[in-house]
Amino acid sequence: MGRVFLVELEGSSFYKCRFCHSHLALAGANVLSWSFNCRRGRAYLFSKVVNITVGPQEEKLMITGMHTVEDVFCCCCGQILGWKYVFAHDKNQKYKEGKFVLERWRIEEEVSEEVNFDARPGPIDVDTP
Ligand SMILES: [Zn+2]
Repeated sequence: MGRVFLVELEGSSFYKCRFCHSHLALAGANVLSWSFNCRRGRAYLFSKVVNITVGPQEEKLMITGMHTVEDVFCCCCGQILGWKYVFAHDKNQKYKEGKFVLERWRIEEEVSEEVNFDARPGPIDVDTP
């Protein structure tokens, strides 16, 4: 089939695009929170995501306040994956700046060894872009 990864992540556990299986993020080191929620359900907060493109900046009022965000797309198949926080207007939300939210149902886990999801408690948040 000759599938080409633009960036291939090294590691045993990672997330990939549900549709084209491009690698997106490491399941351990890149995840800040598994407790994120968005309008369509569970989402994850990542510190670093690869193989994506971002859309134009938009101002969005979320439950946690006004944010400047960019839509995040898979650079291979073009599906929208989530969004990136560019700027948080509320100082309590500053930790999200430069971070990525990927919606759980748009991504797929490839976990070849036990990952303890409870070992890294992250901020619990609800945002509806
Ligand atoms: Zn894709």
